[in-house]
Amino acid sequence: MLTEVDVAIIGAGVIGLATANEIAQPKKGVFVLEKNHNFGLETSSRNSEVIHAGIYYPEDSLKTTLCLEGKNLLYELCERHDIAYKKLGKIIVAASEDEITQLEKLYEQGRKNGVEDLMLLSRTELKKIEPNIEARAALLSPSSGILDSYSLLKSFHSQAREKGAHFVFNTEVIGIEKVGTRYKLQIRDREGISAFASRIVINAAGLNSDRVAQLAGIDIAKAGYKLHYCKGEYFSLSSKYRHLISRLIYPTPEQAGKGIHVTPGLNGRVRLGPNARYVEAIDYGVDETQRQAFYNSTNRFLPFIKVEDLEPEFAGVRPKLQGPNEAFRDFVISHEEKAGFPGLINLIGIESPGLTAAPAIARYVRGTVDEYLH
Ligand SMILES: Cc1cc2nc3c(=O)[nH]c(=O)nc-3n(C[C@H](O)[C@H](O)[C@H](O)COP(=O)(O)OP(=O)(O)OC[C@H]3O[C@@H](n4cnc5c(N)ncnc54)[C@H](O)[C@@H]3O)c2cc1C
Repeated sequence: MLTEVDVAIIGAGVIGLATANEIAQPKKGVFVLEKNHNFGLETSSRNSEVIHAGIYYPEDSLKTTLCLEGKNLLYELCERHDIAYKKLGKIIVAASEDEITQLEKLYEQGRKNGVEDLMLLSRTELKKIEPNIEARAALLSPSSGILDSYSLLKSFHSQAREKGAHFVFNTEVIGIEKVGTRYKLQIRDREGISAFASRIVINAAGLNSDRVAQLAGIDIAKAGYKLHYCKGEYFSLSSKYRHLISRLIYPTPEQAGKGIHVTPGLNGRVRLGPNARYVEAIDYGVDETQRQAFYNSTNRFLPFIKVEDLEPEFAGVRPKLQGPNEAFRDFVISHEEKAGFPGLINLIGIESPGLTAAPAIARYVRGTVDEYLH
């Protein structure tokens, strides 16, 4: 007889942690399985730490609705659990006539999405609030901010544990088999390979989530779940730039990302990035030859920076459903009952704004779990 648990969550990134915190209860056996030795060592600690407002995506998408809900929940969580954050606001800048048209479209999209505090700024209005930024016009989003993502992850982890969730590190899920109304999960840990059974399986495996869905028997090509890796590198600016900007500064967005933006960190250090490059394999090195491209891209609106002041910092990899030059793809949050897998919930393509949306995604998953169990 296999040991049996109620819920197995695969992955202890922000999504697995937030979900564990949302559904853990003393009488429910919730187990989080993580292949690394600790939580949050992959995409959840390799990002811009921006609390997004919810401007960019179609109004009826999960990316928009969960970002808006998540943003409000995150600010509340930060207040309640003493997580460092700053609602410093964000400015999207336009350098040309075409980009002004793009800004106006973003303004309209944001308003449609329910982001009601957006403001279009003329060059003079921009200069009043950010005198060091060069642009022909700008869009101000006052509700965007930054947070200390490690403290958020730690807070989800300790709250989930207090509610009774169990975390099992150094444990990789290598097989999932539906047996009757349960799933048999095969795991590899330091002691070797073993198995247990779970009634519900939540796949929050980030960059690996398509393969985990495939392990369970989902035809990922047919379902449209195949992930593409899209690398984002960061450079930082030396400390002399610390006080030259006070908000997040973004260019108008690109096809695969939001464009190389400028983020003043909670410690005042200014970070540039990420770029967006589709890659075949995951590696977190920063290609120093990108320095000039970063400079060219940000120098348009930060004319005071010098190329030699850019230092390579770190990189992250986006788990994207959208391949190069393909159309918008939404988050996949799917209870696979119709595909013949009741109790299997897949979270795939949780790229930006996944950090912002995490507490709302967790509520959404809890709703699905409750519906299934009752
Ligand atoms: C460059 C970049 C910038 C970003 N900037 C922002 C931003 O500013 N704001 C924002 O809101 N979002 C941002 N995001 C998006 C955000 O970081 C992600 O949406 C979020 O971190 C995804 O969390 P996750 O838990 O799904 O994935 P992860 O953090 O990758 O966690 C998945 C976990 O699953 C584990 N795992 C995988 N397979 C298995 C297995 N078989 N068995 C056991 N464990 C397994 C992994 O080890 C990992 O720990 C950014 C992303 C990138 C790449």
